Order: sequence, then structure tokens, then C-alpha cells
Amino acid sequence: MSLKDVAIIGGGVAGISASLVLADIGFAVHIIERDVQLGGHAVNFACKATDKCSKCLVCLADELVLKAFQHPKIKVLTGSEVTSFSGKSGNFELQISQAIGEESLFKELILKVGAVVIATGFMPFNAEEKKEYGYGKYKNVITALELEKDLRLTGKVLRPTDGAIPKKIAFFQCVGSRDESIGRGYCSKVCCPYALRLSKLIKSEIPESDVTIFYMDVQPAGKCFNKFRQECEELGIHFVRNLPSKVYGYVDSDFLRVKSLSGDKGEVVQNEFDLVVLSVGMSPQSDARFLADTFGVSLDRYGFFEGQGFRVNLSNVPGIFLAGACQGPKDIEESIVHGKAAAVEVARMLRV
Ligand SMILES: Cc1cc2nc3c(=O)[nH]c(=O)nc-3n(C[C@H](O)[C@H](O)[C@H](O)COP(=O)(O)OP(=O)(O)OC[C@H]3O[C@@H](n4cnc5c(N)ncnc54)[C@H](O)[C@@H]3O)c2cc1C
Ligand code: SF4
Ligand code: SF4
Repeated sequence: MSLKDVAIIGGGVAGISASLVLADIGFAVHIIERDVQLGGHAVNFACKATDKCSKCLVCLADELVLKAFQHPKIKVLTGSEVTSFSGKSGNFELQISQAIGEESLFKELILKVGAVVIATGFMPFNAEEKKEYGYGKYKNVITALELEKDLRLTGKVLRPTDGAIPKKIAFFQCVGSRDESIGRGYCSKVCCPYALRLSKLIKSEIPESDVTIFYMDVQPAGKCFNKFRQECEELGIHFVRNLPSKVYGYVDSDFLRVKSLSGDKGEVVQNEFDLVVLSVGMSPQSDARFLADTFGVSLDRYGFFEGQGFRVNLSNVPGIFLAGACQGPKDIEESIVHGKAAAVEVARMLRV
């Protein structure tokens, strides 16, 4: 190990992208990944192609994972976490705890590196916090994350209570975002695009389904987005500009009653759906505070790692860099770009 080695904490798309750039330059890169697999959240998501590619970029995650494992300059430590840290820029020492085998055994490792990139990503908002939507109480209220995983594993959308094909499906937007009362006043940026793509996929898989998206306003993400929304409307997907206030279950029915206000007059309306999908936003990673304290880096007011003004890849500690959604909500493309930019900052600091 030399002080030109770099530690990347978190092996999602951002961490891998940073690693590949650095490894191509010639640095020895160590990816420290807590999970048993690389790729972060994106490797659990579904391809959302219908008759054509929907440009969700999920497939890039699998490609990145493969490249990371194949690169001779990248060493992947899965099941690993940093337990302590010391030193200064250009000369850091990290203590790593790595799980080995299946019997909760751990081995301790020391890494000496010149720079560290924090790329620990995000946590999906815990939908149980929005008690009024009944997640955890009614089985047919699911999160978009669960829908993504089911689609990836089975290729099907099924109603959890009985495995039937749902006919009336509602998406609720901004769940756990844009709400200062729960400490999340920011827009998560990814949930409008993923909800539209998922709705379109559902409509193409189940043409007879009736899909409604309840929203505050749709975040126009990407230059093709308006066209994409128009395509959704042409397919018959309904857009209702009001967020529901409550979901009610029935004792002996798979259906759910959704209470919301009607568009113009603000009257209370109730509609029935047999599947409610909560478009959960991005929250800071669960141990962001622990890592921030370990490395002495600062968090912003929402708990994401704080960049330095326009230099969003720099933390307040020289030699510690930030990549991807750990620094704030980002989609896959932005996370990859952010990861590559972090690598450029690292290379500049280590003067290559
Ligand atoms: C429901 C949902 C659907 C989405 N769909 C899309 C989509 O279709 N297209 C799109 O572009 N974006 C989508 N996104 C956004 C996408 O998930 C993010 O852009 C992407 O995952 C960010 O990558 P990342 O590498 O920054 O973070 P992550 O994917 O969160 O990866 C971080 C990695 O760091 C690891 N880690 C965390 N803490 C530690 C630690 N202390 N030590 C070691 N390792 C650690 C984690 O295990 C993880 O592997 C979606 C998000 C959600 C919530
Ligand atoms: S995963 Fe997304 S980007 Fe890749 S082919 Fe499927 S729809 Fe297209
Ligand atoms: S991307 Fe859409 S659903 Fe997500 S927080 Fe922003 S406006 Fe709400």
C-alpha cells in the first residue's frame, strides 16, 4: 500500500465511477462496501423499457459492477466498514472491520491511503413515518422501492394481498420529500421520473389498468421529460394535482379508499384503488452522522454530506472527498458524473 492508494467508502454507482477513473489513471483503489454486493440501490431496480428503452439507466449499474471486479487496480472489500480513522491529507490510516463467513466473524484491516472518497449514498424515506398512508398496516400500500425490486425479480406487478393483477393503481408523489415538518424540505428529484417510468411500464404490461399519479407538481427532470409525461397522458395515465390526505382499508376487501381534494373546487373526494405505490424520496444514509464524526466532515441541515460551495466534491477536511447521493439527491446519471468529478479532484490533490 502506498500513499497514492485511495479508499472509496461505498460501492454504489458513484463510488464505482470514482474508482474506475482513479484506477485507469493508475491509483490502487480500495472499495469499502458495507453490503455483501456492489452496486448500491440501483442493482435492485428494474429495467423500465416498454417497446423502447425508457432511459432509466439502471442497466449501467450492472455494467459498472462488472468493470470494478475486472479492474486489476481495484480491490473490493464487501461486508466492510470503517471503524476508525487518523492522519492528515495525503497520509491517512483507516481501520476496517470486515465480516467473514456466515458466522458473524470479523477481521480487522489497516489501510494507509492518500485520500478518501465518501460515497455512501442515501436511505429511502421510511414510509411508516407517513402514518396517514397506512404503509405497514395495509398490505396493498407498497413503496416504489418494493415495486422496483418485485419487477426486477419477477417481472410482474401483483397485488400483495392475493397475488392478483391490480386494476386500479395510484402513485403518491413527494412521500418524505418537500415537507419541512418532517425535516425534509428538499425535492428528491428522482421520484417523478421513476414514477412516470414505472406507470408507463405498468400500462404497457397491464393495458386494462387504470393508473393515477397524485402529485404537487411534477419535477421536470431531464430534457426529454415533458415528452415523456405527454406520452403517459396519451396512454391514459391520469395526473391529479393534489396529494391524498389519508388511505383507509376495508375489513373484507383488497381495495383501499383514498381521500383527497378535487382539483379546482377543493372538494373532498374518495376513490378506490387496489394498489397504492408510495414514491418515497431520498433521506440521508443512516450512519451519516457516525461517519461525519469519524472523519470530522460536516453535514448540511438535512443530514447529507456538505460540499464546499461550487466544489461539491470537496468536504471541509482536506483529502476527504464526496461522491454521489451522500451529498444530496441525485439520479444515476448525476451520481456517476459526480463520482467521476470526485476522482478528478482526488487526482489533482495527489498531483498526478
Ligand atoms: C425507489 C427508487 C427508484 C429509483 N429509480 C431510479 C431510476 O430508475 N433511475 C435513476 O437514475 N435513479 C433512480 N433512483 C436513484 C438512484 O437510486 C440513485 O441515483 C443512486 O442509487 C445513487 O447512487 P450512489 O452510489 O450515490 O448511492 P447508493 O446507491 O445508495 O450506494 C451507496 C453504497 O454505499 C454503501 N454504504 C453505505 N454506507 C456505508 C458505510 N458506512 N460503509 C461502507 N459502505 C456503505 C451502501 O451499501 C451502497 O452500496 C431511484 C431511487 C429510488 C429511491
Ligand atoms: S435498464 Fe433502463 S436504460 Fe437500460 S435498457 Fe432498460 S429501460 Fe433502458
Ligand atoms: S421528484 Fe417529484 S415526487 Fe420527488 S420530491 Fe420532487 S416533486 Fe416530489
